[in-house]
Amino acid sequence: MRPQSLTPLFAQVTSLPGIGPRLGKLVERLAGPLVVDLLWHLPSAIIDRRNAPEVAQARAGEVATLTVTIDEHHVPHSPRQPYRVWCSDETGKLCVTYFNGREDYLKKLLPPGEIRVISGKIELYQGEVQMTHPDHVVPLEERDSILRVEPVYGLTAGLTQRPLQKAITAAVALSPELPEWQDPAYLKKQKWEAWKASLTQAHAPAEVTDLSPLTPARARLAFDELLASQLAIALVRHHNRTLAGRAVKGDGSLQKRALAALPFQLTASQLLANAEIAADMAKPERMVRLLQGDVGSGKTLVAFLAMLTAVEAGAQAAMMAPTELLARQHYATIAPLAEAAGVTIALLTGRDSQNQKKATLRGLAEGHIEIVVGTHALVQDDVEFADLALAVVDEQHRFGVHQRMALSSKAAAVDLLVMTATPIPRTLMLAAYGDLDVSKLTEKPAGRQPIDTRTLPIERIGEVVQAVGRMISTGARVYWVCPLIEESEDVDLANAEERFRTLDARYPGKVGLLHGRLKGPEREATMNAFATGTLSILVATTVIEVGVDVPAATVMVIEHAERFGLAQLHQLRGRVGRGVDKSTCLLLYAQPLGETAKSRLAIMRETEDGFRIAEEDLKLRGGGELLGTRQSGLPDMRLADLGAHAELLEAARDDARLIVDRDPDLESERGKALRALLYLFRRDDAVRTLRAG
Ligand code: ADP
Ligand code: MG
Repeated sequence: MRPQSLTPLFAQVTSLPGIGPRLGKLVERLAGPLVVDLLWHLPSAIIDRRNAPEVAQARAGEVATLTVTIDEHHVPHSPRQPYRVWCSDETGKLCVTYFNGREDYLKKLLPPGEIRVISGKIELYQGEVQMTHPDHVVPLEERDSILRVEPVYGLTAGLTQRPLQKAITAAVALSPELPEWQDPAYLKKQKWEAWKASLTQAHAPAEVTDLSPLTPARARLAFDELLASQLAIALVRHHNRTLAGRAVKGDGSLQKRALAALPFQLTASQLLANAEIAADMAKPERMVRLLQGDVGSGKTLVAFLAMLTAVEAGAQAAMMAPTELLARQHYATIAPLAEAAGVTIALLTGRDSQNQKKATLRGLAEGHIEIVVGTHALVQDDVEFADLALAVVDEQHRFGVHQRMALSSKAAAVDLLVMTATPIPRTLMLAAYGDLDVSKLTEKPAGRQPIDTRTLPIERIGEVVQAVGRMISTGARVYWVCPLIEESEDVDLANAEERFRTLDARYPGKVGLLHGRLKGPEREATMNAFATGTLSILVATTVIEVGVDVPAATVMVIEHAERFGLAQLHQLRGRVGRGVDKSTCLLLYAQPLGETAKSRLAIMRETEDGFRIAEEDLKLRGGGELLGTRQSGLPDMRLADLGAHAELLEAARDDARLIVDRDPDLESERGKALRALLYLFRRDDAVRTLRAG
């Protein structure tokens, strides 16, 4: 149960003063739906309003807080004219200017004859001291409330500073003092204060230096976040280990048959990974292993071999993919090999007909289906296995710890293999998975040719359309990716549809459109038509990022490549270069290019090495930019900056280990405090692994 004291923090943001349904939506987009989400939205700048000169001393360009008498309102004749309010003190006159100002509102805000304290940026306009749209206007009694250093928060379109500040201040005020969950000795050594005090300070910067991630207040909050995350991972792992494992030993017979049906040899890394996994499965403990490798490095095949090991041992194996498209694709890859090995395999997705589903569920429960590939439909309650020994989760960074656990809890002692496509730098790896056994596929299958990557300004799109025409006339298959630009899916879809229409008009009947809103059968039909060559061009939103496999496709066009992160570009490019033919990737960018976008595109031209790209990516993002990690599905750190807080991450890992060793059910005094920490950072999944009490 979540501690009572946290309840106000888990209310909707609309429970905060000044946040109605409209602003609520914007705040949710910015920070999250709950009050607690606002706590983690730390200021990104400050405005010093302590500068309180007399009007004559106010200097243009600076922020000032002036105390003035309201003299008269100049209501404009036409709405295009600014609304001016003349004010003064003993030293001079100030003209306060509003565009589209409403008279009734402004007369109430600035009543003639009265004194008001006005804060904003000073301008000089035709020799007059002027302030346009002041940030604050308050009566004299409230002067102190604005005469201070004000935190400035990052915004989202439509949201303004004032209501957000107010809501965050209220959220901080609602935060309870909580029992200390950090080790007192460590806290003292770091000179950190209690959680509430640190939170309050982090939201009340007095100097620019207070915005640094290394201030005691911010470092403490970051450490809290890292500890919550590392502790959650450690608890889940501990929980999994305490469930008795089993030794799953194959005899190699099925693997041999499947491999004989392959038209190629396994790469050295595939062989090594297969051996590592088999050795792990043969141990009596539960396996939790990450299979890491670039797009197209052949992970699916390695995972399939592991599944055969489970079947050889007389048990079942399941593979869960993040999307239906991917599940179908894995199934299509695996099914012929399974057949060659004489293994019964089924596909389970949310789209199956009732009868189909019933048959699959029965097959799994009775055990005659030995391998199943599916979506999250696999973790639903009605799915039972006769004897599940191995769960493979194709993460592509889309599942959380929770789903992984759900699949591996389908049986008493399931070994877990997680496939992930992005080569993750060590720091991020630790943050995402804690300590974890890893098998790496470091080489691409033989016979792959390098991809010719070029960058072009988007103005040259006409040439690209022509070139694409030449290519498809010789049988090439082309992906054409339209990016997420707006925050609205509808607008993005409209962009992709528009591109589809122009290309289809040019090359009638040759173009397909693939996006996230398509129903399963439509998608599948389009994918099939592209895979078999009926369609030559596949216009797609980023849905194809997740693992579409058409080896015959050799051209990748990415529009607005400057909008994508490096990892994403790399993933997208990895959709081509999978066959024996030479492939091309055209990155179309809109000018002007920012420095980071320029570097990203340069790296893309330079290398195809996913590990190198990942390192460069982390460097470019400085570890601090959250968007990239969010896209990649790595833990969404709100307070910790993996660049600045790498040492804290290691410390949190060690601390989490120690805690789980000593008090695995979090029953001690500190343990109880730590439970609150887990709730605070929404690690309820980890709390659920604790023994009741
Ligand atoms: P990943 O899952 O790592 O992106 P896949 O397992 O989907 O990669 O493999 C990509 C393609 O390469 C598939 O068409 C697969 O059949 C093929 N492939 C896998 N291993 C090899 C190999 N050793 N030699 C040649 N082709 C391979
Ligand atoms: Mg794959």
